[in-house]
Amino acid sequence: MAAKIDFRSDTVTRPTAGMIEAMMTAKVGDDVYGEDETVKELESKLAGLFNMEAGLFCPSGTMTNQIAIKCFTQPMDEVICDQTAHVYRYEGGGIAYHSMASVRLLNGTRGILTPELIEPEINEQNIHYPNSSLVVLENTVNKGGGACYNLNQIEPIHTLCNIKGLKLHLDGARIFNALIATGDQAKDYGKYFDGISICLSKGLGAPVGSVLLGSKETIQKAVKIRKAFGGGMRQAGFLAAAGIYALDHHVDRLKTDHQHALALSGALQEMSYVAGVMPVETNIVIFEVAEGFKADAIVHQLSEKGIACGTTGPKTIRLVTHLDVTPEMIDRTIEVIKNL
Ligand SMILES: *Cc1c(COP(=O)(O)O)cnc(C)c1O
Repeated sequence: MAAKIDFRSDTVTRPTAGMIEAMMTAKVGDDVYGEDETVKELESKLAGLFNMEAGLFCPSGTMTNQIAIKCFTQPMDEVICDQTAHVYRYEGGGIAYHSMASVRLLNGTRGILTPELIEPEINEQNIHYPNSSLVVLENTVNKGGGACYNLNQIEPIHTLCNIKGLKLHLDGARIFNALIATGDQAKDYGKYFDGISICLSKGLGAPVGSVLLGSKETIQKAVKIRKAFGGGMRQAGFLAAAGIYALDHHVDRLKTDHQHALALSGALQEMSYVAGVMPVETNIVIFEVAEGFKADAIVHQLSEKGIACGTTGPKTIRLVTHLDVTPEMIDRTIEVIKNL
């Protein structure tokens, strides 16, 4: 039987032959001593792209987000984010554990926040209230079915944070998907954010790694926190080389993943077992199963036909397209969807 077509996540990709070649020939050194030139190259390449001063290579997106939150808060502060936010839901309670901060959860539209939603939730200075010190946005929104912000939506949020003295961090695990979908330029992002996390191991197809971008001062602080988190790596240039290769070869092709997601969504919309599909903007398809159907039963049926995906709730199923999904696999999946 053919191997499963794996839509569980865009993290399941394997390095391509070209990427492995780039990894094997990387120049490396001890990065804790600051001697790995490939890590430095990756950090400055991304910082340059996003017009920020400095970058820091970390093992995961969870680590870059949690380091940023630690940099931008003090214990007893409050972090403002959407209720679907990865930093809140999927990072193991890290905000409480590492930063000793509370979280104020907002109800955005598919995870997308506005200044109108944020402003009333910023606490005044009062001895009773935690100090609101940080807003976190996610672009694209994972649990929002890959919904994205464009820069016109981000600018007024930045202005509000500036006026109120709050920092603004971007969980940009899938920022390149958002850039491809909106046509915004990476270089215009730098001026709006104090920190940006970018994953290399999602749609970009690298095996490991995420980079935190910020000011020189922020990154200096972040290096120390990364060490305390156990994230100081030695000859990490082998991994950074995969990241550089991904940035050079796997960004433009993300539009193919978006077209694939749209094709899956089109097929699903026609099916009687589907109640609705979230509008597809990038590489994530989330659909709700119709009355009388269970999401996990449908996931099981798909699995028996060689298609792997997952539930995001009792009635919702998620499929994520990526580098290792070919047009033939999309055709095959649509056949299965139609005959389920
Ligand atoms: C995947 C992801 C992360 C980071 O996840 P890691 O598995 O720790 O690299 C952060 N934010 C979002 C929105 C994600 O989807």
